[in-house]
Amino acid sequence: MSHVRVEGDFEAIAAFVTDGLALLTPGGIVAGWSAAAAEVTGIGRLDAMGRSLDELFARIDPPLGFALVPEDLLIVTNDESRRTLHASALTIDDGWLISFGRQNTYGAIEQLKNEIVTAVSHELKTPIATIKAFSQTMRANPDATSVDRAEFLTTIEEQADHLARVVDDLLAAGRVDAEHLLNERALVPLREIVADVKEYLGPTQAARVESDVDGIEVSCDRQLLSHALAHLVENGLKYSADSAPVTIRAEGHDDETKIFVEDRGIGIGADHLPYIFERFYRVESHLVSATGGTGLGLYIAQSVARAHGGGIDVDSKLHAGTTMTMRLPKRDATR
Ligand code: ADP
Repeated sequence: MSHVRVEGDFEAIAAFVTDGLALLTPGGIVAGWSAAAAEVTGIGRLDAMGRSLDELFARIDPPLGFALVPEDLLIVTNDESRRTLHASALTIDDGWLISFGRQNTYGAIEQLKNEIVTAVSHELKTPIATIKAFSQTMRANPDATSVDRAEFLTTIEEQADHLARVVDDLLAAGRVDAEHLLNERALVPLREIVADVKEYLGPTQAARVESDVDGIEVSCDRQLLSHALAHLVENGLKYSADSAPVTIRAEGHDDETKIFVEDRGIGIGADHLPYIFERFYRVESHLVSATGGTGLGLYIAQSVARAHGGGIDVDSKLHAGTTMTMRLPKRDATR
């Protein structure tokens, strides 16, 4: 490879291969960008030339290394769609050659399937195992007191509810990709949405939720917004001490309503913040892996906020707490 005059030959090579090709200088600056690269990445040649990959994409995993053999990269686009692209990078004398794979539909489906299986199998297996264990215990102890039986049945019911929610989230994550997410749009008192959220959480969790939302109304699809807000509140509860409260507050501005969900929990490190809204993304720390989750909650919540013409901002400090701010425009949003 060291004898190939890549820069001079780039256009000829790029025209010859079907994958998108990019040539990077030793400093990581784009010096060549094929038509196929523009097509695969959605970034035109003029926009790409002279810039670094870090400027062009939201995430490159792993960061460009120095491998002499092709290295697999996962690249997340910077646009609204935040698509994941597959690429390989090869170090050459003159810098890097990146090839952006054209993923066929089969490959994309395979990848999604693997992501889903990895993310949810644990979330499905644990409640199933608990339900099975508690049912067996009840069968083996026909003389258990009615108090014990009631306790067992409550656990079974809670675990079944959890299973139903994981499945709901999977279905919702599939739907939020679709256009025209909103089924309806009406002016709803935020108090009623908070009541929906508390019902979704159940009495034990709801007791930790404090709210100050009286007098605020939001233009929304009630069911979707309740689901989205429930995810934010559930995270606040999940990622803080059992006794710590989660507060929902709201502010009405001229053009938008802001809903704040505030916790005093473990917080999110700055290095993870850019990724937490991605589908299936979970922070890898022992504090997070101790809790269940599919990594879909924030993805769903963000998609719902965007479908209303708004969004979610995060403000978090490690070991101090997190505030998620959902912005919803007052005017009817068009998608
Ligand atoms: P999960 O099902 O893992 O909770 P989410 O999409 O809701 O998935 O959140 C993605 C990740 O962001 C979580 O795994 C967690 O690491 C982090 N996170 C989200 N909300 C909070 C919060 N309030 N406090 C701390 N970490 C949070």
